[in-house]
Amino acid sequence: LTGRMMDFPLTLTHFLERARTYFGRSEVVSRQPDKSLHRYTYADFYRRTCKLAHALTRLGVKPGDRVASLSWNHHRHLELYFAVPSMGAVIHTLNLRLHPNDLGYIARHAEDRVVVVDRSLLPLLEKFIASVPSIQHVIVIPDDGPAPEGRLDYEKLLEPEQDAFAWPALDERTAAMLCYTSGTTGNPKGVLYTHRSCVLHALALCTSDVFGIGEQDAILPVVPMFHAAAWGMPHAAVFTGARLVFPGPHLDPTSLLELMADERVTLAAGVPTIWLGILALLDQEPKRWDLRSVRTMAIGGSAAPPAMIDGFLHRHGLVVTHAWGMTELNPVGTLARPRRQHEHLPQSERLALRATQGYALPLVEVRHVSDAGQVLPWDGATMGELEVRGPWVASSYYGGEGADRFTPDGWFKTGDVVTLDADGYVRITDRSKDVIKSGGEWISSVDLENALMAHPAVLEAAVFAAKDPKWDERPLAAVVFKPGQSATKEELAAHLEKRFVKWWLPDDYVFIPQIPRTSTGKFLKTKLREDYGNYLLE
Ligand code: ADP
Repeated sequence: LTGRMMDFPLTLTHFLERARTYFGRSEVVSRQPDKSLHRYTYADFYRRTCKLAHALTRLGVKPGDRVASLSWNHHRHLELYFAVPSMGAVIHTLNLRLHPNDLGYIARHAEDRVVVVDRSLLPLLEKFIASVPSIQHVIVIPDDGPAPEGRLDYEKLLEPEQDAFAWPALDERTAAMLCYTSGTTGNPKGVLYTHRSCVLHALALCTSDVFGIGEQDAILPVVPMFHAAAWGMPHAAVFTGARLVFPGPHLDPTSLLELMADERVTLAAGVPTIWLGILALLDQEPKRWDLRSVRTMAIGGSAAPPAMIDGFLHRHGLVVTHAWGMTELNPVGTLARPRRQHEHLPQSERLALRATQGYALPLVEVRHVSDAGQVLPWDGATMGELEVRGPWVASSYYGGEGADRFTPDGWFKTGDVVTLDADGYVRITDRSKDVIKSGGEWISSVDLENALMAHPAVLEAAVFAAKDPKWDERPLAAVVFKPGQSATKEELAAHLEKRFVKWWLPDDYVFIPQIPRTSTGKFLKTKLREDYGNYLLE
């Protein structure tokens, strides 16, 4: 028997209209390149979104066309996030930290028709635009000065347009957004989010056991809007009327702490490397910023070290919410929150739970499987590859590459090696390509680096595989000390010995000024392996 309820499409257009109807006074604050703050309301945002839709239509943008952005996090990027999908076209966010050759590859693969670029990033665009024949128009956002002569200027383009737009009725399965994986494993691959996936994901973010986002929030997405839709934070903000605070290009700890305090941010989101820097600065100057408004900091993208979660909580009263996600998931999949049944656990065990990758969001399902494809028990010990399914998990890549990541029975293979415990908490022990294979046994680089980062002198640590004649691979640790502090190799080994069996301990340590980063701010282990892979042979 078929039910009789309306088939009302789940679209971002509804979010946009809702913001206009109810939240016209909510504010969007953006840090500009000169460090000044730009402010306007969702009412202004809505009008300008309409103007942008008219301007893009005038340039010939049709439903399904890809409109690329090469931008920092700011209000105009938000306008693109909503105007383009609501027109029925696709916003494709280009990662400004990628090499121009990769950007060229991605823009060609996406067949971008229009590129909207921050003036401050125009030199980067100019390095690859000639290699992308599909691009017909470049629109320059005058972030640090007017667009150069002969280029379309975003503001001048919007100025004459009408501030109302007849948004088309869209099927909820229409593509809304195109995000590429960063290609740490082979060529970047495109993930084509639908309106429906963005809407359902944003709804899940707003539930109280996820991020509990509401109109009273002020959200600071430090995570770039070019990295997996800034984890859906802009969507959830426009949907609920939460204030948005954008950091622009200023991502140093002082600028971020200033924004959090001055704009009374309640929820900030970013990768661990950002928060490690913030924690170090807070430890130096614990009284400088009033952070009482902050209810939580969402951390994900790579493993949040338990010592960091603990340091924020116990030294500064700040709660970390650790979450796991992927570009292929729109992107949040699991979140680490202790449940009612864990209330009576000792504090150390609750902290350990907060440091896992957590359990699945509503509507997401997880399992882990052996190399032979056998589904494994949730016993907290057996390691296997994490697989996921749900309404915001990719069903294939744009262009059809990577078909082997999708199982015949409808799951997506994440490439993460995990255990699952009886309560459903996922613990990532490694990405399959980072796991250290020593004499046929697996060593978790994540566990070792978390333990190293709990040493009081250590700011950052990455553990990776170095070649070994006897064992094939052995762990090597790259360590960065906090300013003015240090420890010897023997002290670090003694620190680890308390927690790990002997054969897990790194064979050696290299002390370096900074761990190399990926384009999304994660530790770049491929570079460490390149630089130090032969270290133990020398
Ligand atoms: P890339 O890292 O290739 O740029 P993504 O940003 O989509 O692409 O990264 C997804 C991967 O990041 C996951 O497969 C996982 O390995 C890692 N990751 C994300 N969140 C976490 C987390 N909380 N803990 C550990 N690893 C994480």
